[in-house]
Amino acid sequence: MKYQALKGMSDILPGEVRKWQFVEKRTRHFLESRGFQEIRTPILEQTELFQRTIGEASDIVHKEMYTFEDRGGRSLTLRPEMTAGVARAAIEHHLLRSGIERLYYMGPMFRAERPQAGRRRQFHQIGAEILGAGGAEQDLELLLLADGLLKYLGVPGVRIKVNNLGSRAERQKYENEIRKYFSGHEKELCADCKFRLEKNVLRIFDCKVEDCQGMIERAPKMVLDISEKHFQEVLHGLKQEGVDVIVDHRIVRGLDYYNFCVFEVTAEGLGSQDAICAGGRYDGLLKDLGGQEGGACGFALGVERLLMALSSGANPLEKMMSDRTVYFASSVGFPGARERVTNKENEILLKLIESGIRVIVGKRTADIREHLKKANEAHARFCLIRGSVEASKKKVAVKDLASRIQEEIDEDKIVEYFLSKEIKSR
Ligand code: ATP
Ligand code: MG
Repeated sequence: MKYQALKGMSDILPGEVRKWQFVEKRTRHFLESRGFQEIRTPILEQTELFQRTIGEASDIVHKEMYTFEDRGGRSLTLRPEMTAGVARAAIEHHLLRSGIERLYYMGPMFRAERPQAGRRRQFHQIGAEILGAGGAEQDLELLLLADGLLKYLGVPGVRIKVNNLGSRAERQKYENEIRKYFSGHEKELCADCKFRLEKNVLRIFDCKVEDCQGMIERAPKMVLDISEKHFQEVLHGLKQEGVDVIVDHRIVRGLDYYNFCVFEVTAEGLGSQDAICAGGRYDGLLKDLGGQEGGACGFALGVERLLMALSSGANPLEKMMSDRTVYFASSVGFPGARERVTNKENEILLKLIESGIRVIVGKRTADIREHLKKANEAHARFCLIRGSVEASKKKVAVKDLASRIQEEIDEDKIVEYFLSKEIKSR
């Protein structure tokens, strides 16, 4: 019997994990520098939490959740997204007592979808939430955060589309209006849209089927009042900050809890699954979950798609990482390859890691050619050698794999050496 990982769920092997760590680390730096703090919530929650917030008629609750009964007969669900869990935790632990709370998270989510490139059953999101935030100022902050993060990470071809879904009351009124309109064309709608018409009519705008497009184009537009002032303030703020966005009335989002300003971000190099990040305002969610009255907004970024986009640009991720990576070749010239990292080596390597340099410790071998081959395969820019000759002199040798120049440095000056070369991990 041979076992395999479940369909749509990937093993992430060491060479690949390095890219994840690189992106996660930079993301933490960026989000924390903007005042967001990490929150970690359980992967399992009560099914009802998602039904209540995401909505029974959404694709997620309707057909994508991994739901099962536990031994006590309770219905549990593997989280398909994290906003509901974060909101639940914030209420449960009274995080909003002292005003606005800025939180971020990263971790696996689960949806039973048809797997394809950029669409997995276990996938990973990085997200940020601003809880207890009513004003346009926070929508603006959130959009600038998403835009800033994607730029900081070097994502190519970022395009932000925004839309105003209206206040809850405006949205409800509009839903009634377009329900009437689409009901008049029911026969012409595709099967999915027929379902949406009954359960979640706004989602018809998200349909990609050719035959539905004409009807969608001719549908009445939403009449907006209070929410439009809010929306215009956000657009104005973005303009002042020099961030280009496209207003697109077809951005409706698949989750019930959104209102006011919503957005989706696409990037280059992703093929047909080109949405990399999405979010918006979800006023009312905190109250629905038994918390205080108060607005909130947030976004989620797909890490698999992020990595795909970063591998496709002009300055691919591997190149960015390479310049900050040191491969450590040990055991060179020692009689017999030693299997472990010695305390002195560990001291040197830890100092490098703590100063932000990525270190890959090579498998033990006395053969320097084998080490250099591995260093190249691992896309390291530098090879650090502390063989028997160097160790006896309290030195290390550093070979720049790009220029092929090798230098000898005092073993206690190694961090200063790399910092002076500006290879510090950003
Ligand atoms: P899509 O329209 O691509 O299904 P979505 O609207 O369902 O996306 P959200 O729930 O808003 O997506 O999640 C935000 C981001 O998470 C998406 O933009 C995408 O990058 C990522 N994402 C969502 N579902 C998956 C999945 N099954 N596999 C990989 N990434 C995903
Ligand atoms: Mg989806």
